[in-house]
Amino acid sequence: MSDPHAAPSLDIRAVMTGEKPAPRDERKLNFWERMYLPEVVKGLINTLKHMFKPSATIDYVGPASRPDQRHIAAVGYRGEHYLKVDDKGNEKCVACFMCSTACPAECITIVGEETPVEQFGAQRFKHPKVFEIDMLKCIYCGMCVEACPKDAIGMTTTYNQVNTKRSAFIYDKNRLLLNNDEFMKSLGLERSGKDPKTNTYPLSPDGCGPDVTHGLADFRVGQRQPGV
Ligand code: SF4
Ligand code: SF4
Repeated sequence: MSDPHAAPSLDIRAVMTGEKPAPRDERKLNFWERMYLPEVVKGLINTLKHMFKPSATIDYVGPASRPDQRHIAAVGYRGEHYLKVDDKGNEKCVACFMCSTACPAECITIVGEETPVEQFGAQRFKHPKVFEIDMLKCIYCGMCVEACPKDAIGMTTTYNQVNTKRSAFIYDKNRLLLNNDEFMKSLGLERSGKDPKTNTYPLSPDGCGPDVTHGLADFRVGQRQPGV
């Protein structure tokens, strides 16, 4: 329906080219068109028709999901992070802050603390007391993984993050370690990332160990100097 009080709209093409503006279609709506009711009824009939058709929506993670519909990202996809552990179950992170320094989104918070020798061995001085990633700030660039000198952080293939609270997207150390456990289990690997069939670590960059000090822990236990 045309509004008699509306400002006349400009024919931009006519303004640009200097041509005479084309006559506008000012057809008046008939009674039923002005009532809108027939169109509303047509819309409702259309909705009812679709209610009884099979759904085209894919349930890609829920109970109705089918393997042929489910999207499973390949290993190497940059999804949620996980913190890796060594063969003894200790986190590999040494709280060096390389990842948080490299992170362009500044979404990693680390608070380091001294490690107990009896648990971590003498060659480990620090581990993270607090390790948090704000997943709402993260841009999933993988720079943290690249920067880590200890192969202590990785990214799972989990990409569907849904929650109703912002605070739920701040992943603490426990959550990141849980991600490790779930990801390794889904790949049929041990918690440390070791393949029990081949005794190798397929997700480590060199494939040969979860830590550059792997295997030296027992040898060096007790060598830490007092006060260091
Ligand atoms: S993936 Fe990128 S943005 Fe996310 S925590 Fe790592 S470095 Fe930061
Ligand atoms: S995850 Fe790696 S880079 Fe980040 S603090 Fe731990 S050891 Fe350093």
